[in-house]
Amino acid sequence: MIKEEIAVVWFKRDLRFTDHAPLYYAQQQFLPVLLIYCFEPSIMSAHDSDIRHWRFVYQSLKEMQAKLAELKTEIYIFHNEANEVFKKLADSYTIKLIFSHQEIGNRLTYDRDIELAKFCKLGGIKWREYQHNGVIRKLNSRKEWEKRWKSTMEETPKIVDETKWNFLELNRGLYNDLKGEELNSEIRSHDKSFQSGGESYAWRYLDSFLKERHVNYSKFISKPAASRKGCSRISPYLSYGNISMRMVYQYTMQHYTKSLNKRSLSNFISRLHWHCHFMQKFEDECRMEFENVNRAYDMMPKERNEELISAWKLGQTGIPIVDACMRCLVATGYINFRMRAMIVSFFVYNLWQDWRELHILARLFLDYEPGIHYPQLQMQAGVTGINTIRIYNPIKNSYEHDAEGIFIKTWLPELKNIPVSFIHEPWTMSALEQEIYQVRLGLDYPMPIIDIEETNKTARDIMWSFRKTESVKLEGKKVLEKHVNMSSDLKTRKKS
Ligand SMILES: Cc1cc2nc3c(=O)[nH]c(=O)nc-3n(C[C@H](O)[C@H](O)[C@H](O)COP(=O)(O)OP(=O)(O)OC[C@H]3O[C@@H](n4cnc5c(N)ncnc54)[C@H](O)[C@@H]3O)c2cc1C
Repeated sequence: MIKEEIAVVWFKRDLRFTDHAPLYYAQQQFLPVLLIYCFEPSIMSAHDSDIRHWRFVYQSLKEMQAKLAELKTEIYIFHNEANEVFKKLADSYTIKLIFSHQEIGNRLTYDRDIELAKFCKLGGIKWREYQHNGVIRKLNSRKEWEKRWKSTMEETPKIVDETKWNFLELNRGLYNDLKGEELNSEIRSHDKSFQSGGESYAWRYLDSFLKERHVNYSKFISKPAASRKGCSRISPYLSYGNISMRMVYQYTMQHYTKSLNKRSLSNFISRLHWHCHFMQKFEDECRMEFENVNRAYDMMPKERNEELISAWKLGQTGIPIVDACMRCLVATGYINFRMRAMIVSFFVYNLWQDWRELHILARLFLDYEPGIHYPQLQMQAGVTGINTIRIYNPIKNSYEHDAEGIFIKTWLPELKNIPVSFIHEPWTMSALEQEIYQVRLGLDYPMPIIDIEETNKTARDIMWSFRKTESVKLEGKKVLEKHVNMSSDLKTRKKS
C-alpha cells in the first residue's frame, strides 16, 4: 500500500498562530499538513508538573481549535507520548517533515527529543526545529549574544496566510486508537482564580499593560499586592508561547515613544531580555535542573526536614509575609519577583533546606519555565559562586512592601483583626492583645518556626565562609567562563 506523504506541525510550548515559524514554514511546502499536540503522561506526572499548567494549555488549545474550526480543520490532540504518536503515524503515513520550535524544557523533554531525533534519522524524516524566542542552540560564545537577541527581536514576524492552507484530515480510526484517555476533568474545567490561557488573553494583558498599567510598573514591581496589576502578568503567555517574545518586544517599542513613563517601559524591556538570558544559560548547561552550577557547593550539606518544608508549603511558618505568599501562590499561581526571591531565601537560608526540594514551586508557578526557574533558584540559593549572596529579611520586606498589611490580611484571614502595628510580627503581641484581636498564637496562627535574626546570621556566616574557599572560587571561574565569556571550544547541549 502506498502511504500518503505528509508534513506535521508539532505544537509544544508555542500555542499560538501569530509569529509561529513552524506553521509559517510548513505553509511554504506542498505536502498536506497535520497539526498535532500531545499531552504526554510521562511529562504530566513529573515532579515539576501540576494540573494548573495543563489547564492553561487546554484553554490555549481550545481557543486555537475555535479559530481552526472556521478553516474546517483542527489540531489533533493526543493524550499519549509524542514518540508513540509519531511512530504510529509513521505506520499509516509517510512523514516527510516535522516542524516544531526548539524546546528548552526539562530532562524528560530533552530525552524525548533525542529519541525522536533518532527515530527521524532512521526513518528519513526531516525534523525542522526553529529558534525559540532569543535562545540560541549550540551557542559557542556569549560575546555577540546581546546583538543577536536584538536583531532576532527586530526581524519581521512570521505570519501565515490563512487562505493558503492544505491541511490533512487524519484517519478517524487511527485517531481514535491513538488519542488516549480523556483528560482529567480538572484540566478541562475553568478556575477563575488563575489567569486563563490563550492567544487573545496574552494580547489583552499586554495591551492593557502598555496602554495603561505600565505607568506604575517600577513603583509597584516589588509590592506583592500592587504588582498583581502593576506588572504585565504576561509570564504564563510567554511560557506557553501564547505570544512570541518578538511580538511583545515590537508591540512594546511601538508604545515606547508615546509612553507617559518611559523609565517603566525600559525596565520592562530589560526583563524581556532577562527572560531569554536565563533561558540561554539553561540551554547551555541543562544539568542545572539537578546539580549545583558551582560544584564546590556539593560539599555544603543540608539535612531535609519534612516538618519545616511542610510548614513552609502550607503557609504555616508563623512569618505572615512568607505564609501569605505561599497561600496566594497555591490559590492563584502568581506572586511577583521580589516575593519569589524572598520565599526561596527563607527556604534555603532560614530553614536551611536544599534548593532541589523546590520542584514544589515549579508546580505552583502558573508561568513555570524551566529555563528561568532553575537558574533563578540557584542564583537565589547562592550556589553559583558568582552572584551576590542575597539573604532577604522577610520582616524588613514585609514592612517595606506590604506596609499596611493588605496582602497579608487578604491571604491570612485569621489575622484580619490585628492592627498594622502587629501585622508583620504578631508574636510581639501580649496575651491580652491576642485576646483583644482574637488570635491565639500557637492555636489560630503558629508562632514562628524559626528565629529570623539567628538563622539569617548562621546562613550568612556559612555562605560567606564557603564563598571564600579555593574550590568555590575555582569553580566560580569556570561558571563565569561558560556563561559570561563562553569560549568557542566549550560544549553546548547538543541534540542530534
Ligand atoms: C525563584 C524564582 C523562580 C522564577 N521562576 C520563573 C518561571 O518559572 N517563569 C517565569 O516566567 N519567571 C520566573 N521568575 C521570574 C519572575 O519572577 C517572573 O517572570 C515575573 O514575576 C512574572 O511576572 P510578570 O509577567 O508580571 O513580569 P514583568 O515584571 O511584567 O516582566 C515581564 C516579563 O519579563 C520576564 N521577567 C521578569 N522578571 C524576570 C526575571 N527576574 N528573570 C527572567 N525573566 C524575567 C518574564 O517573562 C515576564 O513575564 C522566577 C523568579 C524567581 C526569583
